[in-house]
Amino acid sequence: MTFLYPGLGPFPGLSSDSDDHIARGYGAAWDIPYADGTYLRLARPGRIYSVGERGECGNHLSWEWYEGTDRHFMWYCHMEDLYYVQPGEEVKKARPVGIVGDSGLSTGSHVHWAYEINGVRQRLEDYEIVQEAQVARTAGQQRIIDVITVNMNQRLEEAKSDILAAKVHNELVARNINLAQGRLTVLDQEITHMVQLIAEQWPV
Ligand SMILES: [Zn+2]
Repeated sequence: MTFLYPGLGPFPGLSSDSDDHIARGYGAAWDIPYADGTYLRLARPGRIYSVGERGECGNHLSWEWYEGTDRHFMWYCHMEDLYYVQPGEEVKKARPVGIVGDSGLSTGSHVHWAYEINGVRQRLEDYEIVQEAQVARTAGQQRIIDVITVNMNQRLEEAKSDILAAKVHNELVARNINLAQGRLTVLDQEITHMVQLIAEQWPV
């Protein structure tokens, strides 16, 4: 089973692992020292079970999902008192559900993350945890993506050469305008000169 890291942001490492928690007389859990204000998402989709203030845990959020008849249950502690979900709500995507805080028995902003299956505490060390959802692709899907990528790159190159051609064209147009202006100036001088000549030959 694969889980997402709880925070919507870089994973800062653990400040306390399962053994640390057990040594302090708690169930296995992880403490992750995210900055205060970091958005939290569900490590896995599920149904929100409870939110609110709860003793040492501070402001918490818990959720559950079933695999067969097995009940999987996770929760976060020490959050800000602000939730984007309600109990009973099904959350399918990794969208923000709350915010990292320092509530309850806590000595600095972090999230305390715990996991149970059928009431038995789990060690998160035994699971694969990733920052982004992994996208499984079939060979056919990958081939379509490859073809589209090649096609888009070709069109990008074409667009670049079109821009270059337009630049060259603009420079040519600018040069032609300069030439025409020069010819106009000469023509203007010639007309002035001819008017003078006419005036001299046929005085009024
Ligand atoms: Zn903890």
